Amino acid sequence: MDNVTHSLAGLLLAECAVRLRSRATGVEPATRVGTAAAVASVLAANLPDADLFYTGAGGDRLTYMLHHRGYTHTVIGVLIGAALVWGAVLVVLRWRSRGWPARGDVLWLLALLVVSTSSHLVLDWTNSYGVHPFWPVDDRWRYGDSVFIVEPWLWVVSVPALVVGSGSRLLRVLLSLLLLAGLALAWRVDLVSKGAAAALTAGAAASVAVALLLGSMPRVATAVGGWLAVTLVMALSSAKARDSAFRAVRASDPDAEVLDVVVSPLPANAVCMAVITVERTGSSYRVVTARVSAAPSITEASGCGARSGVGAIFQPSTRISTRAVRWDSEWSAPINELATLAREGCPVLAALRFIRVPAWQHESADTVLLGDVRYGGGSGTSFSDVRVPVRSSVCARAVPPWTPPRAEILGFAVR
Ligand SMILES: [Zn+2]
Repeated sequence: MDNVTHSLAGLLLAECAVRLRSRATGVEPATRVGTAAAVASVLAANLPDADLFYTGAGGDRLTYMLHHRGYTHTVIGVLIGAALVWGAVLVVLRWRSRGWPARGDVLWLLALLVVSTSSHLVLDWTNSYGVHPFWPVDDRWRYGDSVFIVEPWLWVVSVPALVVGSGSRLLRVLLSLLLLAGLALAWRVDLVSKGAAAALTAGAAASVAVALLLGSMPRVATAVGGWLAVTLVMALSSAKARDSAFRAVRASDPDAEVLDVVVSPLPANAVCMAVITVERTGSSYRVVTARVSAAPSITEASGCGARSGVGAIFQPSTRISTRAVRWDSEWSAPINELATLAREGCPVLAALRFIRVPAWQHESADTVLLGDVRYGGGSGTSFSDVRVPVRSSVCARAVPPWTPPRAEILGFAVR
């Protein structure tokens, strides 16, 4: 998830915690504690992305893939992060007021920061990028496949409530500008249809009206409920799209074994989904991209925007499309080829600990280009494309133990 959305989640959770605490105790928390809670909650909600400092700056593509959403995006990492922010906040509060906060405030802050840091993991899980939260007990990736990585409806349901509830003029201005910028962007980018942009704008107006009409507690509750409702609607649509894709594969190719269906909704759109099916037929591995409509009676799949970007190795799909599923492109290769590459090339196996939908091409007798079709990989232009030697026992440094998402086709146990 993007860091603006993580920050909004942090602010909303802090506001929620303040309202619940003042309701339980009958008194508002001291201003310095409330401000510290809001700042710390935003920090905690973004903290797992601190791994970008060592994966994004100067790191190569393989390092980025293996270590972004790495150890900091696990339950253990989240708890350590929450404890670090908690300790820092207590030290700052003591330094500013020359005394420790009350015991009730200390525990309340800890509970808030654990929830805020955990929200990062949950939000990242909702995307098709995935997380592996249960390391070191279980190193498998988990994919929510339900929410686009920047979902403007989450901004629409939360920002007005935060603006009305904030005591900071600067924050009110910044949040208002953020929502206006988000709406302006929705009207400009091709990824958001004009109908979706109009619905977003109307939704924002309604959200402002609701925030102005309600008292503080129902206002926060409505924003949290709206956030959960947006996520639930997206998840239900995604499940419907996944089911439609399964049925369409079975109808067009009964012998194909579907290994995975990657679903990514378009932003601000609970109807149109970008789908990738990963299949095995005998000794052949095949990847097919499609646009799928979760409600073909409202919008047919062929009306779900432009086809998703894929590498040049892909060909137009020959499958018969339906109202619900518009097949776009496909690519296939002998399944043993990837197994051999992974067995003989340590860097290939390392990359496969991240890559969920591998596509590859031999650039020379010694080099293979390997990428993830989720991000248009396989053509050399995606951040997920890596050029690696065909045979090499020299691995990337500090390869993490994530289970390869496509372990089932490698033909050997990966540790
Ligand atoms: Zn993250």
